Amino acid sequence: MRERPRAAARATGAAANVLDCPAQRMSPGQQRDAETGCLYLVATPIGNLEDITLRALRVLKEVDLIACEDTRQTQKLLNHYAIRKRLVSYHEHNEMTRAAELVIELEQGARAALVSDAGTPVISDPGHRLVALCHRHRIPVVPVPGPSALVAALAASGMPTEEFLFTGFLPSRAGDRRKALEGLAAQPRTLVLYEAPHRLEDTLRDALEVLGPRPAVIAREVTKLHEEFLRGSLAELLQHVRRKPPRGEMTLLIGHGPAPPPAGSQTSLADRVAEIMRERKVDRKAALKQAAREHGLTKREAYRQLLMERRSE
Ligand code: SAM
Repeated sequence: MRERPRAAARATGAAANVLDCPAQRMSPGQQRDAETGCLYLVATPIGNLEDITLRALRVLKEVDLIACEDTRQTQKLLNHYAIRKRLVSYHEHNEMTRAAELVIELEQGARAALVSDAGTPVISDPGHRLVALCHRHRIPVVPVPGPSALVAALAASGMPTEEFLFTGFLPSRAGDRRKALEGLAAQPRTLVLYEAPHRLEDTLRDALEVLGPRPAVIAREVTKLHEEFLRGSLAELLQHVRRKPPRGEMTLLIGHGPAPPPAGSQTSLADRVAEIMRERKVDRKAALKQAAREHGLTKREAYRQLLMERRSE
């Protein structure tokens, strides 16, 4: 179990019964204590139990312990693959003390896997504290990649993927959520958000008001029996969600905002305000608010810029 990895075996992929916890993955200049253990970040299925890699299964079989969010949830996965292992709970409420306890075990040579209830641990899930602490204590942290809802949803969404911005969960309080959306308004990238079903309607409504009309996708229950991709404008999806409140787990994707104008050919703020009034049939005040967001300006700054543009005409 604690055998050192063999480079040759790793190179051929024939590393049976040997955990791959390489000393060479340490930061340059760092020396690793030969007796130190290793932390594996193991991605697990987001719905379909078959979505787990051979390496993930091997690591889960070979580690000394598995730190997990909800021991009952992880036990279901382990039962499915006939893996018997010591489970230690690691969640947002005990992260502080549990991370320190785990690091002590790792320093004594333990090999531990960190998993979350679903998907890639640490991504909108607990674990960052433990990873940071391991780095501080020079304990190797090895990713064992696999499913993550954001990647699965984005890939199948049909939204542009060259550039995207993953924002995790937006704040649950309305004011904070709107502020966060305002900060995203000028992003020329696909936005990928996690959302709880009971907050989806509020989020869609705020997104429509703050970001304006944009294409969007609700990726629901991805990889599960009732997998569904709902595509439409934010307004259409809002209507749909009002008619039929969503259930299950969902990832929301929102098409990107207008690309910044190429240097030298900048649309003036006044032109953009006029354009928005025409296109969206809104009054001047609402159009200025929207144009300000797109330019990353506060309303006051936008108003000042409008005045300056007028003076320089
Ligand atoms: N770490 C996980 C990952 O890598 O996907 C994400 C954990 S986060 C606490 C859970 C959120 O991910 C859910 O609220 C939902 O927004 C999204 N999610 C998880 N499973 C999903 C699925 N099967 N389909 C769509 N979204 C999902």
